[in-house]
Amino acid sequence: MIRSFELLEPKTVKEACSMLSTYGEQAKVVAGGLSLLLFLREKLYRPKYLVSIMGIKGLDYITYDEKKGLKIGALTTHRSIENSEVIKEKFPVMAETFHRVGSMRIRNVGTIGGNLCHADPRLDPPPTLLALDARVKVVGPKGPRVITLEDFFVNYYETVLKTDEILTEVSIPSQPARTGGAYMRFSTKTNDDTPAVELAAVVTLDSKKEVLENVKIGLGALASTAIRAKKTEAFLKGKKLKEDMLEEAGKIASQEVEPIGDLRGSEEYKKEMVGVMLKRGVKMAYEKARA
Ligand SMILES: Cc1cc2nc3c(=O)[nH]c(=O)nc-3n(C[C@H](O)[C@H](O)[C@H](O)COP(=O)(O)OP(=O)(O)OC[C@H]3O[C@@H](n4cnc5c(N)ncnc54)[C@H](O)[C@@H]3O)c2cc1C
Repeated sequence: MIRSFELLEPKTVKEACSMLSTYGEQAKVVAGGLSLLLFLREKLYRPKYLVSIMGIKGLDYITYDEKKGLKIGALTTHRSIENSEVIKEKFPVMAETFHRVGSMRIRNVGTIGGNLCHADPRLDPPPTLLALDARVKVVGPKGPRVITLEDFFVNYYETVLKTDEILTEVSIPSQPARTGGAYMRFSTKTNDDTPAVELAAVVTLDSKKEVLENVKIGLGALASTAIRAKKTEAFLKGKKLKEDMLEEAGKIASQEVEPIGDLRGSEEYKKEMVGVMLKRGVKMAYEKARA
């Protein structure tokens, strides 16, 4: 049974931060409630106060501007992101990734802010958002700060958020021309099961569409947070895509990661899968960038 709590319903971010500041460790933010309720049920969190941010207006939006890039409010649902025309056009890999999140019922309720703040390294959006250089805006009593998503995650279910801060926005820079992306998750049981490995690749080609001008790789379900494969990215950058080179990149990626073995795969198995998925992911992203 869930321990009883008092539900607080602020109408503004400022009011929410002030409540969080007053109650400190005794309070917890709730958005869609999907992940939080599981933790309450398991008694992993025992808050006296739940601060529901769902009534705060102006946190559910998707905007795009060539200069400012993509901005997504924290309360935007996975379903809205998956269905957004501007995201499908400008960031198709995001629409594909959010389509992979749970069932439609989950996507209708879960929010991008909740997904990132939950900081489970096996969720779908983080690898893609890392590969797209996402940043998050967090607001606390002292005002806003913007953090790269890479710096946002600290450990399993842990972020740099202070107890009185709220994530309000996710931003992604405009992608250069000739950029393509791919997201894949591999599960050892059913397709919907918790993944053993997740990989997102974002590739930008030169004007002749031959050289990999930039490559970004996000990985999930391997470590205590989603991570970037920076050695592999550096190896691929500036090269033409060839089978032997891709083979070498797969080996570098396998060596670069130090997976934590779990029920979905041993450390060795996950290393092997990273190599296989790296080759597939980069090739798919490359083909999309050329199209
Ligand atoms: C059955 C099921 C299947 C799922 N399948 C998938 C899947 O396949 N892929 C996937 O990626 N995810 C999956 N999820 C996870 C789901 O996507 C996340 O639970 C959801 O995105 C969390 O969003 P929420 O709005 O419900 O957050 P909540 O559960 O309300 O909050 C989650 C955590 O974030 C904190 N929080 C929430 N919003 C903010 C904010 N704006 N600022 C500060 N802190 C905040 C809360 O305090 C809490 O600690 C699944 C969940 C369930 C229950």
